[in-house]
Amino acid sequence: MAAKHEPSFYDSVQRNFDRAAALTNLPKGLLAQIRECNSVYQMRFPVKIGKEYKVIEAYRAQHSHHRLPTKGGIRYSQKVNQDEVMALASLMTYKCALVDVPFGGAKGGVKISPREYSVEDLEKITRRYTTELIRKNFIGPGIDVPAPDYGTGAREMAWIFDTYTVFKGGEIDAAGCVTGKPVTQNGIRGRSEATGRGVYYGIREVLNDKPLMDAVGLSTGTAGKTVAIQGLGNVGYHAGKICQTEGEMKIISVAEYEGAIYSEEGIDIEKLSKFRKRTGSILNFPGTSQLDQRKKTLEVECDVLIPAALENQLRKDNAKRIKAKVIAEAANGPTTADAEAILLKKGTIIIPDMYLNAGGVTVSYFEWLKNLSHMRFGRIEKRFDENTYLRIVNLIEKKTGKPVGVTEKSMIARGADEIDLVRSGLEETMVTAYEQIRTVMKRRKKVTDLRTAAFIVALNKISSDYLNMGVFP
Ligand code: NAD
Repeated sequence: MAAKHEPSFYDSVQRNFDRAAALTNLPKGLLAQIRECNSVYQMRFPVKIGKEYKVIEAYRAQHSHHRLPTKGGIRYSQKVNQDEVMALASLMTYKCALVDVPFGGAKGGVKISPREYSVEDLEKITRRYTTELIRKNFIGPGIDVPAPDYGTGAREMAWIFDTYTVFKGGEIDAAGCVTGKPVTQNGIRGRSEATGRGVYYGIREVLNDKPLMDAVGLSTGTAGKTVAIQGLGNVGYHAGKICQTEGEMKIISVAEYEGAIYSEEGIDIEKLSKFRKRTGSILNFPGTSQLDQRKKTLEVECDVLIPAALENQLRKDNAKRIKAKVIAEAANGPTTADAEAILLKKGTIIIPDMYLNAGGVTVSYFEWLKNLSHMRFGRIEKRFDENTYLRIVNLIEKKTGKPVGVTEKSMIARGADEIDLVRSGLEETMVTAYEQIRTVMKRRKKVTDLRTAAFIVALNKISSDYLNMGVFP
């Protein structure tokens, strides 16, 4: 929850929208159309848990139909409410536009704490929720395509896909009704790491941006930079691991549900994750000390803070104590609008959610394309590329008379697999979107923060979609 007298999550998103919209010359009516949530389906359905029936509250919000299908994750959390789902759906619209994923934004939520249910019960709830979506025409490869979010993963997506095919047997593109599926069930390699990997690429772009680094007194580059992470779930784990392995960054603090740990020497994320799976907790991980409250991770002295849990974590009441130079919004909406004002005044760089965690929807888009094409990426060109590279290397060997080693040869003469293409497409997407954001900031003196610039990029793209449709001439 936001602190008392602070705007709700949805209000914060709307406030950020308004700040950016005021800096555009777009027609007022068009901006009003983009801003509002188009459809919200609130449902209540009974599920038999043990011997009793429980009434489950759930939502699916479609923020914008300017492009179809709409797209966005499904969240399982006791805190789910309509305001939150609408905020998350809005963010999806702007996120998709920013990274050129041709979808409108949506989001779903089921108000349950997954920890309190058995796997069988979760399956029942997921299948029933999917049935409700089918009944109201709120799911389908050309209608609305869910994906994982907080509290859900590939397992839930497999149940959704299976339920959909039960009702829609014979629909040739049925696999595109949901993304984030297991690879064995029409999923794509690299989807589970995608959001975290995108978070790393985004952080890397910012840390290599000299003018921004000069402004906060940091050298450029990722190596050696200190990091604190809140939430070691899908996004936090992959982001932390890739920052550590590929970016050579040092993770000095991690917070999870059960508490927070700290180590000046650095925490090995892979080992920590295995430790948590084994013991059920991050506490007492060798070489770390325990912080007195889990929220203290947010306040440690570090270069980059990665909130990767939930919204409204950086608020009016703790913003002044945040010492990180860069806040990397891996979660959606971790910073309230009031906290943002305080942090920007202090000179903190905020890498906005709508950009930073767009890796998930980007690779979901690749998965959807794979499902519609009914073919794995790389299948057509891999061998052709390998043979071509091999011929080039052989020719160089012949002309120079110098043999290339076997290991080098196989490294050079390698065609791309699906995972290589997915990572390449993701990196390209994150780099290009960052360039677009920075171009707006360089051209428009009044745009001084990354979030406002990201909103402007997104608004311009959505507006031209509407204008091309002949709406709002
Ligand atoms: P997840 O459920 O896999 O992990 C979240 C983790 O945060 C859990 O382990 C939970 O115990 C922990 N947590 C919750 N409250 C906490 C607190 N107060 N302090 C410390 N830890 C806490 O969820 P996820 O998929 O990693 O999503 C995290 C965030 O990233 C959400 O805001 C989500 O909307 C956003 N996001 C996720 C994806 C995706 O592909 N999964 C894509 C884009 C954005």
